[in-house]
Amino acid sequence: MLEHDVLVIGAGLAGMRAALAAAQSGADVGIISKVYPVRSHSNAAQGGINAALVDRGDSWEEHAFDTVKGSDYLGDQDAIELMCKVAGEELISMEHMGVIFNRDDDGRLGTRSFGGQRRARTFFVADFTGQAMLHVLHEQLMKSQVASYEEWFVTRLILEDGECCGVVAMEIRTGRLYVIRAKTVVLATGGVGRAYEPSTNALIVTGDGMALAYNAGALLMDMEMVQYHPTTLKGSGVLITEGARGEGAYLLNRHGDRFMERYAPSMMELASRDVVSRSEATEIAEGNGVDGCVLLDCRHLGEQVIREKLSQIYDIGLDLVGVDITKEPIPITPGMHYIMGGIKTDVDGLTRVPGLYAAGECACVSVHGGNRLGANSLLDTIVFGHRAGNHAAAVASDKEYRDLDIRTLVAEEEARLRGVLDRPANGDRVASVRRDMGVTMDRHLGVYRNEEGMTAALADVRKLKERYASVPVEDKGSVFNTDLIFALELGFMLDCAEAIVLSGLERKDSRGAHSRTDFTERDDENWLKHVLVSHSDDGPKVSHLPVVITQWTPEERKY
Ligand SMILES: Cc1cc2nc3c(=O)[nH]c(=O)nc-3n(C[C@H](O)[C@H](O)[C@H](O)COP(=O)(O)OP(=O)(O)OC[C@H]3O[C@@H](n4cnc5c(N)ncnc54)[C@H](O)[C@@H]3O)c2cc1C
Repeated sequence: MLEHDVLVIGAGLAGMRAALAAAQSGADVGIISKVYPVRSHSNAAQGGINAALVDRGDSWEEHAFDTVKGSDYLGDQDAIELMCKVAGEELISMEHMGVIFNRDDDGRLGTRSFGGQRRARTFFVADFTGQAMLHVLHEQLMKSQVASYEEWFVTRLILEDGECCGVVAMEIRTGRLYVIRAKTVVLATGGVGRAYEPSTNALIVTGDGMALAYNAGALLMDMEMVQYHPTTLKGSGVLITEGARGEGAYLLNRHGDRFMERYAPSMMELASRDVVSRSEATEIAEGNGVDGCVLLDCRHLGEQVIREKLSQIYDIGLDLVGVDITKEPIPITPGMHYIMGGIKTDVDGLTRVPGLYAAGECACVSVHGGNRLGANSLLDTIVFGHRAGNHAAAVASDKEYRDLDIRTLVAEEEARLRGVLDRPANGDRVASVRRDMGVTMDRHLGVYRNEEGMTAALADVRKLKERYASVPVEDKGSVFNTDLIFALELGFMLDCAEAIVLSGLERKDSRGAHSRTDFTERDDENWLKHVLVSHSDDGPKVSHLPVVITQWTPEERKY
């Protein structure tokens, strides 16, 4: 029998931090990842992690205010305060574990500027910060007693009397299903970027945990808040880090104007992401773009800065679009990058389903509200991963394992998956359904939205769900059946896509990343509240929750 006091699903930064915390609290911990742990999407994080260090003249209050303002006043201020207060401590503890952050000439930890923040408080390791942090946490886990299920895929959560007490997971190498019993379960499964096409996210970022939690009775909150990053490559959607603008790169339109002067005169290219993405989309729509893009100009930074601090994007430019960024501006466009919404949790990661926690991008605590500040996500993963791990371990220490009918649970899940494999060929393909979903989401729930487009998207997503119910899986085997996994992931994404569209239709104002052409203003009187979606037998149900305001009264947002 496989069992752990605390079972963490996901081995990105949030999952690894949670597992480490739980293990250090004395719990017996297991961690599952559908890919080899250091291939999690956290590995792709480029630009850095925010923290306000007092010895730099910075303060958690300033960081918190920038975050609240960045969120367009939709973030819960109690959670934001908590995150910003412990940011320095968490950062230094990562450094002590072994993350070699870049240093200034005077030998102190170096910072770069990131969007929407009045101070340079982003700590970084060149332009591969996520990789550096993930590898260090992975080493810590290898040193610990945590059991690691690598390349295992969770297909469902097990509930008994409404309480989460384990999962059913497939060992991908053999296709065999197992029940893993747990006293508490922490979801750290990341975002849902691939519900959009294109996206900066890895192909594995498919909203599995959000859909699993939703179907188990948890709430999804603020799902309409999908972040379009201002600098992604046309076509592939590959990210060019905000660190480039942080180091001083400009945005230009086809006339060679730094157009941000007109949209955000004081912060220019380093206004918050929603503002910069809207400005770019407006320039392109008004005919000031270049082939559907605007240009990011790094030339004046000089070859040395580019090679030392932006080496990865130098390679990306050269390899993917044949542009040498030391010599030419690179064409970029806003592209899907991150979801601010997710599984609603409290500041300890607890969802409304007893025994079930969530942390990292799959969760909505909520610290990002309508728009996440760059470099606040890595912070979110370690702060709330840590807290969720601690809490899950403490709760597990007072609990017994539940008796589970393992044979029946496995047999039921085997029969469900067999049903998927046995579907006859009908000319449709998982990849086509996935592509159609991505295209419709990008078209209708991108930088700008309106009732007509979102209504069309809802009809599309519902039709895609019907196609999904009979879409065949070509590989019928059991060993490394990635076809079957792609199909299951598509099901998770469609549930999330539906929640995104429903939340978008519900919110009738423009706030953060949710910018409506039919409700162009922010309307605090009616919409200073969260939008929630829950699962019911009659379909998704939408509800609201007030935003927690502590010390910052909503005001007009200008950069
Ligand atoms: C290109 C890129 C650059 C970024 N740069 C930055 C940055 O510089 N600063 C910043 O703050 N943020 C950045 N972000 C955002 C940030 O990296 C992510 O939000 C964060 O890393 C998410 O971490 P996570 O631990 O929540 O999830 P992830 O790192 O996505 O990990 C998810 C884990 O869940 C596992 N999993 C998922 N489903 C299942 C399943 N069904 N069964 C088993 N395992 C499963 C996966 O295998 C994986 O281990 C960037 C994002 C991208 C895409």
